[in-house]
Amino acid sequence: MLYHRIRTRYAPSPTGFQHIGGIRTALYCYLFAQKHKGELVLRIEDTDQKRYVEGAEQYIIDACNWLGITFNESPFVGGQHAPYRQSERRERYQTYAQQLIDTGFAYYAFDTPEELDAVRKIAEDKGAAFLYNAQTRHQMRNSLSLAKEETQRLLNDGVDYTIRFKIPENRTVSFYDHIRGEVSFDSEQLDDKVLYKADGWPTYHLANVVDDYLMQITHVIRGEEWLSSTPLHVLLYEAFAWDNVMPQFAHLPLLLNPGGKGKLSKRQADKLGFPVFPLAWYNTETGENSNGFKEMGFFPDAFVNFLALLGWNPGTEQEIFSMDELIEAFDLDRVHKAGAKFDFEKAIWFNQQYLRQKCEDELVQLLKKDARANNFSEQKLRLLVKMYKERVSFLHEIWTHAVNIVGDIQQYDEKMIAKRWQKDFVPIFEKLAQLFNHLQEFSSGNIDTCLQNFIHDNELKTGNVLLPLRLMLTGESSGPHIPDIAAFLGKAEVVERMESAMRNWG
Ligand code: GLU
Repeated sequence: MLYHRIRTRYAPSPTGFQHIGGIRTALYCYLFAQKHKGELVLRIEDTDQKRYVEGAEQYIIDACNWLGITFNESPFVGGQHAPYRQSERRERYQTYAQQLIDTGFAYYAFDTPEELDAVRKIAEDKGAAFLYNAQTRHQMRNSLSLAKEETQRLLNDGVDYTIRFKIPENRTVSFYDHIRGEVSFDSEQLDDKVLYKADGWPTYHLANVVDDYLMQITHVIRGEEWLSSTPLHVLLYEAFAWDNVMPQFAHLPLLLNPGGKGKLSKRQADKLGFPVFPLAWYNTETGENSNGFKEMGFFPDAFVNFLALLGWNPGTEQEIFSMDELIEAFDLDRVHKAGAKFDFEKAIWFNQQYLRQKCEDELVQLLKKDARANNFSEQKLRLLVKMYKERVSFLHEIWTHAVNIVGDIQQYDEKMIAKRWQKDFVPIFEKLAQLFNHLQEFSSGNIDTCLQNFIHDNELKTGNVLLPLRLMLTGESSGPHIPDIAAFLGKAEVVERMESAMRNWG
């Protein structure tokens, strides 16, 4: 590697909505680039026009923005290697494909899709997969098997062709992978992959390698599914005589279903009730709706923390990491080889930890984004946060936990009332209601003192006062600190709830 500055890239194809595996790749690229004070490029690999999905590019940006993954260069912020959409770089790939033809590393292939299907079928019938390679390429219709004049005639006639890479015979292609160590492939296993298609577009392989070179990428960090393409990429670097600037590779482990069997799939996740997408999306073509972690109520910092540990560990017991701490601790050598089991409960645990760590001010501001907050003053929202912060994993769960105090009581715990309410408590609670009525400032602190004095002065059992009072104010037998609940409800509502309970409970 000759370059001085570390440059990595996230190179998604906008062929669908990026699932969390893709976003984890983006996160690792970001952490790596930041750690080494390098640069991260976002390159949109949109050469497969047939698989282009409207909105997928914006989705990638939105998901990265949500998580705080930023790019030094991208189609949106530009950069010295622009454009960053492969569809806007088309003529470059043509030039490089031509260069490989001219130097003998690639050749024209005129086989029609039907002809290819036919040879594939013959191989399949024999129980094998067809490989277009040194053993078979001479039986096919290409510039290596045809006479020079015939090739020229076909080209002049404008017959459809593809350009294929000529995989060398008897080669062991080796490269170093940061996660897997030395990896070797026998060239007999490789296929003369198409680099340039009949429709005039490059394939992923050509465009990816050409752009990594032109964009001076030093580290390619991507999913394990690309490992088997890497020997071809290595051979391409050699063929272009770019091997002195070939990037280093790191292939990230797969994300597995919670049980550890198979790649994390949307089907399995749907069954278990969790999303596999960072953000919700709606597919206009199929009418399919998918939930996202953001919409479920995950905090971006908690989600980043969770995601970072899916496939990497810091080598210590520490689990909670801010983005800055992740940048500091991240190391490709500590990324696991084995697949990472997705653990939704753990994701929830992270969110809960972050919720507890956040200050009330921040939580109040976040709570305000919910329309349900419009009915309450800032002070009441603060009380809500204080009361439920330790009791929920997601901020929005406050509304369900507090359902009986943010609105009317939905249901009383009748069993508990039957067990713990006695008719002769009435005078006691009437007296308490009066005391409340006379409280000047109906604050949590004042209510608390008032209650304690009341219990003490009247020589009452704490449980005989607090539990019935809780039932009166919330209908429930357990929950947050009663003075907080009372302060939240306000004097009039507290007295009203007490009186109505006494009327109804007899
Ligand atoms: N466009 C490929 C993808 O969609 C990129 C693979 C790579 O990073 O080389 O994942």
